[in-house]
Amino acid sequence: SKVPHITLNNGVTMPQLGFGVWQIPDDEAFTAVGHALEAGYRSIDTAAIYGNEEGTGKALAASGIARDELFVTTKLWNTEQGYDSTLRAFDASLAKLGLDYVDLYLIHWPLPARDTYVDTYKAFEKIQADGRAKAIGVSNFQPPHLQRLLNETSVVPAVNQIELHPELQQAETRAFHAEHDIATEAWSPLGQGKGLLENATIGKLAEKHGKTPAQIVLRWHLQLGNVVIPKSATPSRIKENFDVFGFELDADDLSTIAGLDADKRLGPDPATFDVA
Ligand code: NAD
Repeated sequence: SKVPHITLNNGVTMPQLGFGVWQIPDDEAFTAVGHALEAGYRSIDTAAIYGNEEGTGKALAASGIARDELFVTTKLWNTEQGYDSTLRAFDASLAKLGLDYVDLYLIHWPLPARDTYVDTYKAFEKIQADGRAKAIGVSNFQPPHLQRLLNETSVVPAVNQIELHPELQQAETRAFHAEHDIATEAWSPLGQGKGLLENATIGKLAEKHGKTPAQIVLRWHLQLGNVVIPKSATPSRIKENFDVFGFELDADDLSTIAGLDADKRLGPDPATFDVA
């Protein structure tokens, strides 16, 4: 396919553009994932807490696409952190997805006050050693949380999936990733479609390139080297968000977007977030 792949630190390759399914109900996930696969996406990002692993898995099966052409990510929810509970939760996710392995399994949030993510990650190492996840990683980890995993466990996380968009560019965490060969995956890459896609600066770049604001923002992520997983339930937007390979932002465009960084979080702060 025309989607570039990045090579993770354990040699597994991952499509740089995937499809996120947060907030798509289980009965609609079948249709939405079906549209995404038809449009050419091969990487799907779900999570136990999204409640749509079954619909997602059914769409994967119905597509007839070979398993080794798909890249499936799911995530461990907060209530299941801990060694044994992680192993059980992983079994449940696989069963819902109807798969015998996932490509990537992530710890959804670090919950640092609970101090369970190291034990949780040790269960992830077992899951990977058993061949049931091709790669393991984390989500919403900040450099101190990552550093603790590096100190106390053996497998360097392949991926850290974090909130990242032009108004929250995450320079410090991205630098930590680069230093330790951890891939950066951007969640809410379009800023959840709210203000960012109406931003006048993005609008000007869209005009300049004859593209939509969403395409400009996705192109920016790709040129930075981020893995990106935009979400839409609308077939025309699903296609639009996949059509980001026929043009390039130039150095001026990139520095213009660099200027939009505003430390603007849409989601919770991982240092304090602890909701079941
Ligand atoms: P997003 O930035 O992908 O924005 C999605 C929204 O933007 C859509 O609901 C729609 O309203 C709008 N949109 C999409 N395409 C558009 C287009 N072409 N033109 C105009 N508007 C458009 O936000 P998201 O869903 O929050 O994030 C994407 C994925 O990231 C999620 O589905 C999920 O898989 C993942 N995610 C992970 C976490 C985490 O904690 N790990 C948190 C949030 C999201």
